[in-house]
Amino acid sequence: MKEFGFELRVCRWAERHWPPGGDSEADGDRVAIVARQLGTRRRRWDTVVVETTREALDRRAPFGDGRLDADLLHVARHAPGSWAYYRDALPQPGYPWRYVREAVHRAADRGFVETRKRGNRVELRRRYRYPDWVDRVVAIENKPDLDAAAARALSGQLEHDVALGLADEVWLATEATAADVEPALLEAIPVEVGILAVAGTPDGWRADTVWNPRTLDPAGPGTRILERPAGAEADASAAQFEYADPAWKRGKRLEIGERAYERGWRSYAETMRTDCRHFRLRDPSGPFPWCGAKDGEQTAAECTGGCPSFEPEPPAWRRGGWPIEGGPGKATDRLLARKRRRRR
Ligand code: SF4
Repeated sequence: MKEFGFELRVCRWAERHWPPGGDSEADGDRVAIVARQLGTRRRRWDTVVVETTREALDRRAPFGDGRLDADLLHVARHAPGSWAYYRDALPQPGYPWRYVREAVHRAADRGFVETRKRGNRVELRRRYRYPDWVDRVVAIENKPDLDAAAARALSGQLEHDVALGLADEVWLATEATAADVEPALLEAIPVEVGILAVAGTPDGWRADTVWNPRTLDPAGPGTRILERPAGAEADASAAQFEYADPAWKRGKRLEIGERAYERGWRSYAETMRTDCRHFRLRDPSGPFPWCGAKDGEQTAAECTGGCPSFEPEPPAWRRGGWPIEGGPGKATDRLLARKRRRRR
């Protein structure tokens, strides 16, 4: 299976069954928000699971469906309960105050703070307290066909994840084989990384834990591996590291949580040509994209305006609500957005 399709199935499985081996029904309040392709500037994870609770999501809801970026988070986390000059109320941002002032106005537009002017001074007070809603962040790397070369390429990235400790857990998801011992167990994967064997069954996709991860320390300092020697005999170069402080990690985890909250994993449609006449959604449990022209699943990289088989939806398909409602492509976008909202 292509990595893209595999990734969507891992996301779907995680949304329904996270945590692996656990009883997701046992604690009805627990929620897993699942998203794709999130992380830091240096490292993107294939699948991200943000663990939270229904009650915490209810307290997050007044801040809107869209994410709070780093500047808005600065305001949301520190806005005072009573009127105060924004420079007195908010901590030193580490960048010019004029950007904070802009963020305060954006926060007021979003409706979670109130502002007023006293002379030249902008004062603010919060309308809602920003909740500490991100309990745990879990990173999953997807590799359906994990051979020795792929494992070698991946192990460096996974070592980076473990050393940084930005996520609480790191997993590798691979397609289950019929072997007695899953081949992933024989590869040089860091021992801290959990391994999931994922398989399609008549009852849907399932994932079995073949190696348990070690819980990392996101609240403590981390190590950013910048460069490491290739390991060849003549290579005497030194590895380079950088310290990642806990405050940076705390902020980054919240930013990741916010992006996951906004996008979910079904945002794949935003980068695909849902307005192509051959675009379909299949499998109501996904739903997953399908291409009528290729008679198979397309990847996001294939499904662009540069695709040789791309054909825009015929205008006749857009009758009725068109141009306000759009054709089937727009309906697809709406369906996926609706499912995303329902999850929140
Ligand atoms: S024909 Fe190309 S653009 Fe159209 S749905 Fe298939 S992959 Fe996407």
